[in-house]
Amino acid sequence: MKRLTVLCDNNTKIDHYVYAEPALSFLIETDEKKILFDFGYSGVYVKNAEILNLDLNDVDVCVLSHGHNDHTGGMVHWTKKVPLVCHPDCLHETVYDGLQIGSPLRETEIREKFELHLTKEPVWMTENLCFLSEIPTLYDFEKRSPIGQKCCDGVWSDDLVMEDSALVLKTEQGLWILTGCSHAGICSIAQYAKTVTGVDQIAGIIGGFHLLEQNEKLTKTIKVLKSLDVHRLIPMHCVNLASKIEMAKSLQIEEGYSGMIVEFEN
Ligand SMILES: [Zn+2]
Ligand SMILES: [Zn+2]
Repeated sequence: MKRLTVLCDNNTKIDHYVYAEPALSFLIETDEKKILFDFGYSGVYVKNAEILNLDLNDVDVCVLSHGHNDHTGGMVHWTKKVPLVCHPDCLHETVYDGLQIGSPLRETEIREKFELHLTKEPVWMTENLCFLSEIPTLYDFEKRSPIGQKCCDGVWSDDLVMEDSALVLKTEQGLWILTGCSHAGICSIAQYAKTVTGVDQIAGIIGGFHLLEQNEKLTKTIKVLKSLDVHRLIPMHCVNLASKIEMAKSLQIEEGYSGMIVEFEN
């Protein structure tokens, strides 16, 4: 059995009494491992796991999509020492308009809480689940623009969020791609996932797509997503309503929400 539960998203569903916040956290259960992907902004993921009767005590490994605090903030509520896999840039202090927007914990504090595994290369967490780590920009329209500044080895520079990454799960129906915010660009992530896994068909994509403006990038993204023939598209977290409306004109999309369960057939 393979299953993903959305422990935290911006959205909730009527009659589902779980919490939401503008952040993201997924619990992934495979036959081999239980993986927490991102921690949201606060302790909402812990509260929702309790409400949904999901035990976080037997999580085997945690993974960070990137360093922004709507994905790392909830780390302060984590209590079990397990491996934490992420790109090294997730750990650096990050500021936007004078506000701290990076991880609330610095590397020494993270090493006290977790067994830290830093990587810029793809890592297979199980036979079928891969953490992509650093994603190359494969489409011109997804060229990165800075979001604030990051401090690496004492030097501040514009932050291109090079750490932004995703998980990829191989199923018999094709790949399932699980994203955080897709600062790397959702099309580049999808294309890189195909290259790393050697699988061409994408069964589904769930997570933040970072589509917040009605511009050429959105139009081109929709065109690429259409050509990928993805069976299930679940854009959430950092995709605004106007972008979803535009996507829905030519793509079949689903709404994501805290408490959503996606079962992967295998
Ligand atoms: Zn982000
Ligand atoms: Zn985010």
